[in-house]
Amino acid sequence: MTVTPLVFGHVAALPADDLPAYVYDLDALRTHAAAVRAALPAGVELYYAAKANPEPAVLAALRGSVDGYEVSSGGELAHVRRAVPDAPLAFGGPGKTEAEITEAVRVGVHRWHVEGVQELHRLADVLAATPQASVDVMLRVNLPVTSGSLDSVALAMGGRPTPFGMDPDGAEACVRLLAGPLGSRLRLRGIHAHLASGLDASAQLAVAEHITDWSAELAERHAVTFEEINIGGGMAVDYTDPAARFDWTAFGAGLEKLLARHPGLTLRIEPGRALTAYCGWYATEVIDVKQSYGEDFAVLRGGTHHLRTPATRGHDQPFTVLPVEDWPHPWARPATTTGRATLAGQLCTPKDVLAHRAPVDGLRTADRVVFALAGAYAWNISHHEFLMHPRPGFHFLGSDDA
Ligand SMILES: *Cc1c(COP(=O)(O)O)cnc(C)c1O
Repeated sequence: MTVTPLVFGHVAALPADDLPAYVYDLDALRTHAAAVRAALPAGVELYYAAKANPEPAVLAALRGSVDGYEVSSGGELAHVRRAVPDAPLAFGGPGKTEAEITEAVRVGVHRWHVEGVQELHRLADVLAATPQASVDVMLRVNLPVTSGSLDSVALAMGGRPTPFGMDPDGAEACVRLLAGPLGSRLRLRGIHAHLASGLDASAQLAVAEHITDWSAELAERHAVTFEEINIGGGMAVDYTDPAARFDWTAFGAGLEKLLARHPGLTLRIEPGRALTAYCGWYATEVIDVKQSYGEDFAVLRGGTHHLRTPATRGHDQPFTVLPVEDWPHPWARPATTTGRATLAGQLCTPKDVLAHRAPVDGLRTADRVVFALAGAYAWNISHHEFLMHPRPGFHFLGSDDA
């Protein structure tokens, strides 16, 4: 069972008209985040990438386990500052406007993830017009990672054309610029690279090692010191197995070895999905069950306009059925007949499917369905306005103490 007892009991007790609902277990989130933190050695800082799920209650529940938050827009910056005042923030994202840069300089952020040469100039320009003494910058680099222990999976991560960060020659140019007059107010702290997502612990370690080695060579070439390397997020979440977890213990042990080779270095990671995916569920009920040309379809209250994750990633969202015995109607209760059902939503598009031909054991109209792994890139990436159905409810369960 991947639905926590707290969430299961809550969903069972909700009136049908309060469905669909996003239900979060903040105690489960705190426990998970604390375990992640505990698996990381000294010298590794844990930031949370707010875009994965910026609900204020989620941000606050993480506060005890994370060192800071990564924000990628002026909107996220303002929002996270409100939700967790005084938390250190790293400000990243491509396409920072002058207004966003000005505001971030004004309020002060812990680290700037600079995306390119022009952004460096723009930041220096804004800074020159303010009384603030200096800012701390990391250069976001898009490194090729195609060799070594990653060959087996033929991963070509990073090093591909993207609008994110800068190519290695851009990083060289920035380091040279920061060695000049710009460097007096823009302190170069190190390198940032977020190269891939969905990596298991051994692949993440190989990437971390590659970024760290590459950065050390860059620093040596320019006779500078990098105190910090941010190796990004992208730790895998397995949507086929909601009970599985990224191997944080192996990852932490690997990072400890890596740090032993680079004394004095601080490593930073900024996962999003792998921190919050497990703390959220999307609960709903079956409105109708039909047979179409030999296949069973369960039509649910809600759909991908609330939980777009399976549509964007092309997966089936894992779920648990909560049987409801009460059937007050005089007509026969529609139910599945084949042992498999496609779980569709209320939208008038064939893309509105949360799970395809999933095994079900006699799913009936009015049964409840609780989708797991809905705590990250779920509600906040969905197209809520399409077809104008009502919004889901939001329930944050768990003790209030942080
Ligand atoms: C999205 C993002 C993350 C988080 O990625 P996850 O796959 O959710 O761990 C971290 N860093 C940057 C720069 C990102 O854009």
